[in-house]
Amino acid sequence: MRNSQHDVLFEPVDIGPVRAKNRFYQVPHCTGLGWLRPKMAAALRGMKAEGGWGVVCTEWCSIHPASDDLPHPNAALWHDDHIKDQALMTQAVHDHGALAGVELWFGGARSANHYTRETAVDVASIPNLAGHPYQPRSMDKSDIREFRRWHREAALRAKEADFDIVYVYATHGYLLSHFLSAETNTRTDEYGGSLENRTRLLRELIEDTKEAVGDRCAVAVRYSVGGDDGEAPELTAERRDRLEMLAELPDLWDININNYYQEMGVSRFFKEGSLEEYMSFVKSVTTKPVVTVGRFTSPETMTSQVRRGIVDFIGAARPSIADPFLPNKILEGHADDIRECIGCNICYTGDGLGTPIRCTQNPTMGEEYRRNWHPEVVATRGSDAEVLVVGAGPSGMEAARMLGQRGYRVMLAEATRELGGRVAREAALPGLGEWIRVRDYRQQQIQKMTQVQVFLESELTADDALATGADHVVIATGAHWRADGFGRSHPYPLETLNPASNILTPDDIMAGQLPSGPVVVYDDDSFYMGGLVAEKIRLAGQAVTLVTPEDVVSDWCDYTSERFYVQKRMLELGVTLQTGHQLVSYDGQEVRIASGYTDQEQTLSANALLLVTARQPNDALYQTLKERLQQDSPAGAPTLHRIGDCDAPAIIAAAVYAGHRFARELGTDTENSQQPRYE
Ligand code: ADP
Ligand code: SF4
Repeated sequence: MRNSQHDVLFEPVDIGPVRAKNRFYQVPHCTGLGWLRPKMAAALRGMKAEGGWGVVCTEWCSIHPASDDLPHPNAALWHDDHIKDQALMTQAVHDHGALAGVELWFGGARSANHYTRETAVDVASIPNLAGHPYQPRSMDKSDIREFRRWHREAALRAKEADFDIVYVYATHGYLLSHFLSAETNTRTDEYGGSLENRTRLLRELIEDTKEAVGDRCAVAVRYSVGGDDGEAPELTAERRDRLEMLAELPDLWDININNYYQEMGVSRFFKEGSLEEYMSFVKSVTTKPVVTVGRFTSPETMTSQVRRGIVDFIGAARPSIADPFLPNKILEGHADDIRECIGCNICYTGDGLGTPIRCTQNPTMGEEYRRNWHPEVVATRGSDAEVLVVGAGPSGMEAARMLGQRGYRVMLAEATRELGGRVAREAALPGLGEWIRVRDYRQQQIQKMTQVQVFLESELTADDALATGADHVVIATGAHWRADGFGRSHPYPLETLNPASNILTPDDIMAGQLPSGPVVVYDDDSFYMGGLVAEKIRLAGQAVTLVTPEDVVSDWCDYTSERFYVQKRMLELGVTLQTGHQLVSYDGQEVRIASGYTDQEQTLSANALLLVTARQPNDALYQTLKERLQQDSPAGAPTLHRIGDCDAPAIIAAAVYAGHRFARELGTDTENSQQPRYE
């Protein structure tokens, strides 16, 4: 039975001519699928609708080939084939009683049109804002007329594809943002100058769209009311004035922050509900329904947002990715079963990489079509077999959870006193507290399963593992950071590191072994760990120099949209940054580094050298067992598998995925799953 406190979340809400069945609104979000993989996109969105979201939207959907975002896979409504593709999505969404929304998009100076090779157009010929050596053409009056026609025709195609909500997208640094802003709009015609003039194109597009499809479709505006770091106060004030001017024109306001990286910030730097302070006035100036995001995962916070009159809809991208069934779990009174987003932004990496979405918490995300995976439903066990899982990190825990859900008898053995493996350690690093949800969700689920037994403080040997009599043994013993210099820049151990000196790894720091005196952190890994251990040591009061062979700090964090904030944090903390340098030697007093460009060397005094280079699989148990089983091949010998970091060290999402896949496929025909479909 659901908690009656949450009833308000299940009230229907009218949006212009359409009605949403509840207040759960999946706002437009990227998936790395777009027009390239429409069947995968349709199945993904359909799963959200099945999970109870009242509104499910596309990703950004280009209205014309003059706005193409590849290698970031956008959706498109350029021609009739795209109508068919989008109709797959609307059908999948409608099948579960949800409304389908489409975010019509035109990139302007953010699109270099690498794929279509069309000339981009924008308010002026400003440099491409994604850093490409292309500038758009400055739009003259006929370009503006054409642009309005493209938008209108795309809206008509959207209607034909059976969308219920059609967006005018006026934020996030795309074309309309540039017309609106006094900074970028330097025109002297009726589309430039006064606030009214700069708003003209947005107003026209809302009116055009309403006229074209407003009889049957709601028209939503995605708009920013400010809150961007460093924005001039007068620009922020204008955003509010404009919203007041247009308050009653669209059927819905979808409010966010212009700076995407801030709006969808990682939990390390941005907490739940971080937009409220900027947008809480919106409902006081419009009678139209309002939606915003805030990585909401708690039904209490959601209820409070509605009751306090901040929003009409609970907008979500990431919470709906981590748990497509979040609304239904609240509806059915199982809010404890929600798989809460941890704010790691691994889901966003597919956008930058041009590859399908994945999620740390939800290993089925993106696999709905190509592997036919459902986040809540799985085939029951194929046999009465008993499974021993050794190691309770994210991989072992996910395997145990899934095997338990399938009805297998499971023994989960963990060497230490607590579950979680690397997640338990990493969640204690500065800002990463929410990451513990990876463990907590699985622990909670496992606790409910009588067929899953957990054994803590049980460091198993090969003999122990065989003595359990399990039919299947799965090794999930993780990995440890290397202390020998081996890494991307030196794919061999460095013999120039004095073994008697204080050489540390992230494992030491996470175990509480903090160095004293000046420390050099050598970050050859380039994801989040280098910056985090540097921060931890700096916060403990030590001088830190962060050296990396890359040209920027935490290079891969670009894909998770946090690189800027990592570097900012390092500079604010007073960490000295030395980019473009490789480690040469450490004698216990001095670290020698060399420029990757000129080979010129320099020395840095250091009481300790902290190596963030590569990880070594903890696969000794696996190897011993493999050898034993091959030599003896005793009757009734178990099958043997390894999963997660002990197989191949990678991101947490990969460990969860490996555990999930093993458990889902055990005892099933996996032939087809080796060749997933990519349509
Ligand atoms: P992954 O990311 O692949 O899940 P982790 O490093 O997070 O890997 O977790 C591995 C877990 O395995 C750790 O909690 C560790 O204590 C545990 N472990 C390692 N060796 C053994 C062993 N021989 N017996 C039981 N548990 C082990
Ligand atoms: Fe949340 Fe991380 Fe999953 Fe994205 S990948 S939805 S941020 S848990």
